[in-house]
Amino acid sequence: MASASIHPQYRSTRAEKGAFSFEDALLQGLASDGGLFIPTAIPALDESTWRHASTFEAMAKDALSTWLSGEIDAATLEEIVSAALSFPVPLVPLRGEEWGDVYVLELFQGPTLSFKDFGARTMARLMAHFVRSRRQRLTILVATSGDTGSAVADGFAGLADLEVVLLYPKGQVSDVQEQQLIVERPGVRSFAVDGTFDDCQRMVKAAFLDSELRQLGLSSANSINIGRLLPQMLYYLWAIREGRFEEVVFCVPSGNLGNLTGGTMARLAGAPIRQFIAAHNANDFFPSYLFGGDEAYKASVRTLSNAMDVGAPSNFKRLKSLLGPEELRSWVWGTSVTDKETLHAMKHVYHSTGYVADPHTAVGLEAVSRYRAATGDRTPVVVLSTAHPAKFPDTIREALGFEPERPERLAQFWDRPIAVEAMNPTLEALKEALLPAAV
Ligand SMILES: *Cc1c(COP(=O)(O)O)cnc(C)c1O
Repeated sequence: MASASIHPQYRSTRAEKGAFSFEDALLQGLASDGGLFIPTAIPALDESTWRHASTFEAMAKDALSTWLSGEIDAATLEEIVSAALSFPVPLVPLRGEEWGDVYVLELFQGPTLSFKDFGARTMARLMAHFVRSRRQRLTILVATSGDTGSAVADGFAGLADLEVVLLYPKGQVSDVQEQQLIVERPGVRSFAVDGTFDDCQRMVKAAFLDSELRQLGLSSANSINIGRLLPQMLYYLWAIREGRFEEVVFCVPSGNLGNLTGGTMARLAGAPIRQFIAAHNANDFFPSYLFGGDEAYKASVRTLSNAMDVGAPSNFKRLKSLLGPEELRSWVWGTSVTDKETLHAMKHVYHSTGYVADPHTAVGLEAVSRYRAATGDRTPVVVLSTAHPAKFPDTIREALGFEPERPERLAQFWDRPIAVEAMNPTLEALKEALLPAAV
């Protein structure tokens, strides 16, 4: 499937062919036929180049230029990467017999402490670049239940010609998550919606169908955007380079399956990945599917790993288009972990290794134990750690009896002024807030 170094075009998952540029796919978000954009070919990434990169940034620039060179010049790409991705990506080996050759890749060292920073920050700067050359303005509308909103707001804040509007369900995000959503940022408006996350998503969908609101130049920044997926390939390569692995298994705590899609693209581009483990909480649509279940989506249920509370993963169709059902089932092994098992895993990992895992990462660690027991495979495993434990102090206290340390970059969110507006859960309320008053 990998092809020579010509940069790919994109098509909708609902169309046989098509020839969208990256720029179009990025700015449109969703194809007009309702499908998701996928690359028409996957360019191979030169292994000797990424294995020998001196820094994450240098590796990121090389790899992304293979994908984007026809559309963005090297100097601009370098600027985008160093503004978006200048934080550490440590690979931490777990100690102890039981965890031999198990590593945690800490993807939470960015400004908002979740792996969403990789995708959101890169996408924001790519959009800003194209919008500037089009002399256009964009309003990014985001419904968020937690981590996405703050990563997007932080990634876009202060970029010229881009405005961000966040909708989150009032009282249904954690205190830490809320504080990160409502700190004042230039060009960002946050609305606490008197409703549920589903209401917020409904309002966003309705906004895209509204002719008056569309004149604001609406775009979306959720995990279906191709601009978030490309940067999510990078840390898979980085982990292999850091661990000097010949072959590796990746365990991915999953919800909308965007992270796993990034990994799949890395493998299609030639990375030596033996197997993926999709680690899900009680929202078990995907692991059920992998073990022969049908494709009926489920209603989401609330869990301790709330960023993975997804009943209908938005990247499922994309994964199936990229791989086909048989390959998908052979590349990915999946399992579903309950809240009780998550708490137990947090405790067990802490007592056996000293490592404090957040609830999402803990779902991943439990999945690794199950995978090894079920398959006997002893290939090195890298668990993607998707959030910093300090984002979930209540759950850490419940599992371990103490609160996690709050890193400096999280503490600074409490020293800043906040700006938040209340909103009723209706399209009319959204229009009233965003449109200039009629004369
Ligand atoms: C978004 C998120 C996930 C799930 O990632 P997907 O790409 O939606 O599968 C897992 N953990 C955390 C902490 C997240 O914020």
